[in-house]
Amino acid sequence: MTVTYQRKGPVAIVTMNRPEYRNAQNSEMTYALDAAFARAVDDDEVKVIVLAGAGKHFSAGHDIGTPGRDVDVAYDRRAVMWWTHVDKPGGDQRYARELEVYLGMCRRWREIPKPAIAMVQGACIAGGLMLAWVCDLIVASDDAFFSDPVVRMGIPGVEYFAHPWVLGPRAAKEFLFTGERFSAEWALEHGMVNRVVPRSSLEESTLALANRIADMPRFGLALTKRAVNQAEDQMGLRAGMDSVFGLHHFAHSHNAEVGEDSLAGMDARAMRDAAASRDATGGS
Ligand code: ZN
Repeated sequence: MTVTYQRKGPVAIVTMNRPEYRNAQNSEMTYALDAAFARAVDDDEVKVIVLAGAGKHFSAGHDIGTPGRDVDVAYDRRAVMWWTHVDKPGGDQRYARELEVYLGMCRRWREIPKPAIAMVQGACIAGGLMLAWVCDLIVASDDAFFSDPVVRMGIPGVEYFAHPWVLGPRAAKEFLFTGERFSAEWALEHGMVNRVVPRSSLEESTLALANRIADMPRFGLALTKRAVNQAEDQMGLRAGMDSVFGLHHFAHSHNAEVGEDSLAGMDARAMRDAAASRDATGGS
């Protein structure tokens, strides 16, 4: 199973379960996450949701190269009202797929009417950030690191473009321009995570926080979550994200027009090698 579901008292724990691929997200995982979140929403005993990643890493991002990559598979669409991407050409295909599976799903999950806490250890890269960011709170272990390296593909950040809102504009630019790994402490300093705890007590600390929140009334929490999300949208999050989604797809199309594919010919290995070679030549 690509996603597991477990309930501990008032807390539902939804866990990405592809540890052998650092929880790279394929569509199968996306729809399994959606089903797990829906289950937690429908269970009146559940007050708080914790999103976790099995193994050493939270998530290395979208699946751009495992054997389980399933970008051409048709799933039962539910995030947006749009036609299927399957068997469509060029930008028609990419736009339809990313609108549903990436941007649409993340927006849908941001609307979950129960508080969600991301429990982050190890890598939280690119598409991994999207999952952490749609949660209301983020508890990171001291070994967690965050990175959005897709500018290396010529693309201005991942599809769910929350960077300036979760980091502030200046830190967001440093984060994107360098594509480097930023520590949990750095993320804490810039307000992107709520707390940093030792790796050994990550689960205990996260569950303690979840249980404390679970003491509050369910409906009050739902309205409060909506209130803060609405305020965030008044600060431009939703409209900004829509406008950047256009730039994002312009970049994909430019890549496809001048090169071999929409990712500038880069897969997971190429991205890793590029980061490693810069480290080896003294880039910090
Ligand atoms: Zn994309």
